[in-house]
Amino acid sequence: MGESAAPILTIKNLNKQFGSGCDQCGSRAGRKLDKNYCPACGTVYSCQDISLELYPGEVLGIVGESGSGKSTLMRCIYFDQEVTSGEAYLQAYKEGRSNLFEESAQQKRFIRNHLMGKVYQNPVMGLRMQFTSIGNIAEKMIAAGNRNVGAMEARGRELLDRVYIPVYRMKEAPKNFSGGMQQRVQIAKALSNNPPILLLDEVTTGLDLSVQANVLDLIKHLQRELNISILLVSHDLSVIRMLADRTMVMLNGQVVEQGLTDQILEDPQHAYTQQLVHSLL
Ligand SMILES: [Zn+2]
Repeated sequence: MGESAAPILTIKNLNKQFGSGCDQCGSRAGRKLDKNYCPACGTVYSCQDISLELYPGEVLGIVGESGSGKSTLMRCIYFDQEVTSGEAYLQAYKEGRSNLFEESAQQKRFIRNHLMGKVYQNPVMGLRMQFTSIGNIAEKMIAAGNRNVGAMEARGRELLDRVYIPVYRMKEAPKNFSGGMQQRVQIAKALSNNPPILLLDEVTTGLDLSVQANVLDLIKHLQRELNISILLVSHDLSVIRMLADRTMVMLNGQVVEQGLTDQILEDPQHAYTQQLVHSLL
């Protein structure tokens, strides 16, 4: 990652709230929240003024406990959820000059299909469990405008091979696979249109430790091979430590600390980060 390189993805002042707010929480300045919600009206402020930059070939980790807003942030970036306010720019889209959140539904679909891939914690969110594995990959390629069956099959075989799914099982449905294999099919599907950015949301949570290690190894390997940029969300600092160049720490909808992962691990500044780091030892 060169210092002078332009970010591939820029997020500015992203806000996501659930509820319409009240006199006591309407403006950010005087807002008094209990964790991330307003005790007066119950509005939840899941993401508060989140800004970030993701650079070419970089892995940016976002760590935080459940309710920190990290997964909501990912859902907003992938348009699974609408933001309350904020801006997002992709270098590969209109030369980074158009706020993605203001684009039409059709353009958002284009961006999702061509420029981003997402892997969900729950494979049911990312896969059609009854389709064949290669059919899942073809589905994403068709959504991006591919029509050549032979080319899609060749690409599907190549991708399944890359994630170590034996080609003789390509016609099997993910519902017959183990949790680790399902995540690997999701990764293959997310990569199918060669997106410059991969979004990974708690992708190894719930897997056995040995399986977790295999999936993380695979991600690391693919990242290096493809030089893809990754936004990685996890509650587990050991996952972040293994993969992320830089790390953002989220708590109650806010970024409380960010920096190079090594620095954060060696010298955590915020009390919450200190607690996370100490729990690793
Ligand atoms: Zn309120």
